[in-house]
Amino acid sequence: MKKQTKAIRIQAERSQNREHSVPLYLTSSFTFEDAEQGRAIFAEEQAGNIYSRYMNPNVDEFVDKMCMLENTEDGIAFATGMAANFAAMGGLLQSGDHVVASKALFGSCIQILTKILPKWGITCTFVDGIDLAQWEAAIQENTKFLFCESPSNPGLELIDIEAICQLKAKHNLILAIDNCFATPIIQTPADWGADLVIHSATKYIDGQGRVLGGVICGREDLIKEIRFFARHTGPSMSPFNAWVLSKSLETLHLRMEKHSDNAAKLAAALEKNPALNAVKYPFLASHPQYELAKKQMKMGGAILTIDVKGGFEAVNEMSKHLTIASVSPNLGDTRTIITHPASTTHSKLSVDQKAEVGITDGLVRIAVGLEAVEDLIADFEQALEKAMVGSLVG
Ligand SMILES: *Cc1c(COP(=O)(O)O)cnc(C)c1O
Repeated sequence: MKKQTKAIRIQAERSQNREHSVPLYLTSSFTFEDAEQGRAIFAEEQAGNIYSRYMNPNVDEFVDKMCMLENTEDGIAFATGMAANFAAMGGLLQSGDHVVASKALFGSCIQILTKILPKWGITCTFVDGIDLAQWEAAIQENTKFLFCESPSNPGLELIDIEAICQLKAKHNLILAIDNCFATPIIQTPADWGADLVIHSATKYIDGQGRVLGGVICGREDLIKEIRFFARHTGPSMSPFNAWVLSKSLETLHLRMEKHSDNAAKLAAALEKNPALNAVKYPFLASHPQYELAKKQMKMGGAILTIDVKGGFEAVNEMSKHLTIASVSPNLGDTRTIITHPASTTHSKLSVDQKAEVGITDGLVRIAVGLEAVEDLIADFEQALEKAMVGSLVG
């Protein structure tokens, strides 16, 4: 069966009520027939639910679908994407271990690696993710873990996933990839050999801007260690969120195709716009890693960036005149969202750090939604025209 079919048909076991849509299992604990069954389930001699911090039918259904989509042996769900990222590192690393990570990481991942893990003696070296020689040079005797994101946020830089998988195999390291922007519809890093694939399910997996969630899919032995960490520290996904997210996976294929189609058309239209210094999108021939994008991504994804002439002032003017796109620090919604990274999500970075990851004053991230693309193109064109006039007058 195709993955689309499985994403719709994998379901928690039907109850005696013969429901068609899976019910919500809002229960903190589960019952045992008798004390002997409780003992046997705790001793793992018998399969069975115990307590919703450990497992829950809605959460398990969501994880089963994610592992199927990511082609991994096992998986575990979390309350948020950051809980997933932290549990991957907290669960697998110990004092004295070293991490090599790409500079172009989600902001909170950088905070974990630079401010939180060092408290327990875990250190990190950051490298320019697209330069494989830097990754290799940064590997030390105590290096255990490689961590990156592709495409990166907001620079849309790509990591050569096949090459980095070869590097981690050569040095016998654990490679974790944050696959949030691409989703398993566009790329499945485990097929190249990635050990862990991490998601903020808050983004395209929900896809409708409703709930937070996270998930790690990967090698069974690693997930087992992370599961131990998670069961006892408690960053579990709620059954309600799992129910919402599992339903969302039924339409992930359709949504990612439409998001990518809309984004490609908007990027192509904006590339000609005189109000912009640059447009970046993985499937535009002008993207510096276009060949790699075509090799490892099935579609271009939903995110593009534009660099507006006139910096923040012009961006602000444009944002006032947009009638459809929302101004919000999120992505992965049916609604098109614009974000100005330099003043919001990446405002804590120094001037040099911003320059290193390509965050200029005029850079705007557009997370293209599912509205009719003709409407989006017309909306950005009129807003940019007014922004040009406005900032010229100003
Ligand atoms: C949003 C995001 C996260 C964090 O996810 P939350 O669900 O907000 O905790 C991590 N990585 C990437 C790439 C993201 O976009």
